[in-house]
Amino acid sequence: MKFIIATNNPKKLVEMERILLPLGITAVTAKQEGVSLDDVEENGSTFMENSFIKAEAACKKTGLPAIADDSGICVDALDGAPGIFSARFAGEEATDVDKNNLILEKLKDVEKENRGAHYTCAITCVFPDGDVIQTEGKCFGEIARESIGNGGFGYDPIFLYDGVSFGLVSAEEKDKVSHRGIALRSFRDKLIKYLEDNNVKQ
Ligand code: IMP
Repeated sequence: MKFIIATNNPKKLVEMERILLPLGITAVTAKQEGVSLDDVEENGSTFMENSFIKAEAACKKTGLPAIADDSGICVDALDGAPGIFSARFAGEEATDVDKNNLILEKLKDVEKENRGAHYTCAITCVFPDGDVIQTEGKCFGEIARESIGNGGFGYDPIFLYDGVSFGLVSAEEKDKVSHRGIALRSFRDKLIKYLEDNNVKQ
């Protein structure tokens, strides 16, 4: 079965492909299918609602089962912000560096014990017949005092997992513990059961 990865975010796409491939899930981009995905309005109030909105739109547009990720970082000292607004936290035009600097600035007087944060990733797969599979993954850590390393993307250089910046770890190390790795492996498990229950041959 062929899946569409419903994202226009190239960095997220790299991670999704990298995690899904070894799980035996064939996923292509809409572009590879010759379809361009419209930017949909992510007006849900949770990561899960927003991932559903994106997956449903991509499934409708391509006629193929579509997998969407909605994700972000939740900072304890900011009452869970930026959360679902992680992509636009510092304005539409802001770069990753701008967003990271804004969080570092807001937390400049916050002590280590209160610098907790976690990433959340919600995955939704919508099938053309309307069936839906949803999973979620979380990755807990803390916000660094400064940006460290330039690996990963987004907030990774200021996110410490087990005391080490995600900006310094390898792709394999990140995938093992990341919110996206957890959510996509859980998706694979649910998908296997779904295909068995529906007698669908891969
Ligand atoms: P959206 O899911 O496209 O609305 O945006 C997710 C945003 O959350 C990204 O643009 C990043 O800023 C941030 N984000 C999500 N996952 C990660 C990650 O694994 N590392 C760093 N930043 C992330």
